[in-house]
Amino acid sequence: MLDVLGIWSEIEPEAEPIKRMVITDPKTADPVRPVFLTFEDEKVEGRPFAHMVPNVALVGALRRAAGELGVEIRQSTVAQDFKSGDHSVSVTLTNGETIDARLLVACDGVRSKLRDAAGIKTVDFDYGQSGIVTTVEHERPHDGTAEEHFLPAGPFATSCR
Ligand SMILES: Cc1cc2nc3c(=O)[nH]c(=O)nc-3n(C[C@H](O)[C@H](O)[C@H](O)COP(=O)(O)OP(=O)(O)OC[C@H]3O[C@@H](n4cnc5c(N)ncnc54)[C@H](O)[C@@H]3O)c2cc1C
Repeated sequence: MLDVLGIWSEIEPEAEPIKRMVITDPKTADPVRPVFLTFEDEKVEGRPFAHMVPNVALVGALRRAAGELGVEIRQSTVAQDFKSGDHSVSVTLTNGETIDARLLVACDGVRSKLRDAAGIKTVDFDYGQSGIVTTVEHERPHDGTAEEHFLPAGPFATSCR
């Protein structure tokens, strides 16, 4: 997809190929922890099956490509509300600006304000769990291995770069 968008060559030097993925699901105290699923040197059309890409590289390349296509990007403001007409939609931004368009695509994430404004209902429930996302430095080479351990209290996963 990124190739088709013409941005993969810009991103690839920043991307870390994932060469191996190890997935397990026993308890930490289990004496033997068999690997549940492993992808080893899997290739898709001669390329690694996945990469880790820093967000800044991905967003930077997408912004450049969008700019070249004449897509106008508004920063430091967000969509606050919208009104639908018969043939158009009018979006109000937090900076007071209004944008009129024929189509509004709301892709504002899991707590979408525009979805609420459109009256689209969702069903959600609390897992009673918290997640920690952080960056750590490996003491030893990671060898391009991503790990996913599905432990009874919740998943533990590492990806490498
Ligand atoms: C730690 C972690 C690991 C994950 N790993 C994976 C994985 O391996 N594979 C996978 O498929 N998924 C993974 N996910 C899930 C994935 O990241 C999300 O499903 C995905 O990012 C959702 O994309 P989205 O575009 O709907 O929303 P988002 O990525 O949340 O994007 C919403 C955007 O809208 C903007 N925005 C919000 N409100 C407004 C507004 N009012 N006006 C304008 N803009 C607004 C936000 O700033 C944001 O840029 C992971 C998530 C986490 C947290």
